[in-house]
Amino acid sequence: MNAELIRIGDDIVAMHAVATDEGITLIDAGLPGDRRILQRALEAAGRRPEDIRGVVLTHGDSDHIGVAEWLRTEYGVPTYVHEADAGRAQGEKTPSAPGGAMRLGPTLRFFAAALRRGGLRPRHLGEVRTVQDGDVLPLPGSPEIIGLPGHSPGSVAIRIPAVDALFVGDALTTRHVLNGSEDVQLGPFSDAPEQTPESLERLRDLPEQTIVVGHGPIFHGTAAEMLGALKR
Ligand SMILES: [Zn+2]
Repeated sequence: MNAELIRIGDDIVAMHAVATDEGITLIDAGLPGDRRILQRALEAAGRRPEDIRGVVLTHGDSDHIGVAEWLRTEYGVPTYVHEADAGRAQGEKTPSAPGGAMRLGPTLRFFAAALRRGGLRPRHLGEVRTVQDGDVLPLPGSPEIIGLPGHSPGSVAIRIPAVDALFVGDALTTRHVLNGSEDVQLGPFSDAPEQTPESLERLRDLPEQTIVVGHGPIFHGTAAEMLGALKR
């Protein structure tokens, strides 16, 4: 099967499309104002929003649910989220306050992007499909769910061997939204950051060579190599 990974957005906030002969799986959904960014990226790849079969969320924060509700109401696209983050994706809980070192410039750039792309007015989901650890979803690329609690209770990694990729959401970052550092680090704004290192051990033996984070450039290497580069 032909499968292609399409990166949509930028190193501040990105979503990703896995495009196959059977349609598209969208991993995360950016910021609420990212409709045109998504439409343009799909067009450039010869695809359309109608090709999207499902959105799979790495977690339920507002900078990841972005255009998911628009896709649901406009095109009937279902969104899959871990059951422990379903309430968050539907607007029942606000994310926790940032922790750790914060520098003004990068922080302002993140919030400026969020402002420009509608991130301060999240559009929560009216309906979700819940997933659990170990599920393999009936979507293009057959995404496999690996529970990764820490950043949020329902954070997951999403494994798609068809594109040799592992999506880890905000468990890890390669561009810290608050201080601009491009080291591999644990993501900020976490509910239970002490849980994340243990969760990440679940990924260590996976063979995928493309590790995709919610914020920052793609890491080219295995999960073991990325964990080896992690600044603690
Ligand atoms: Zn995020």
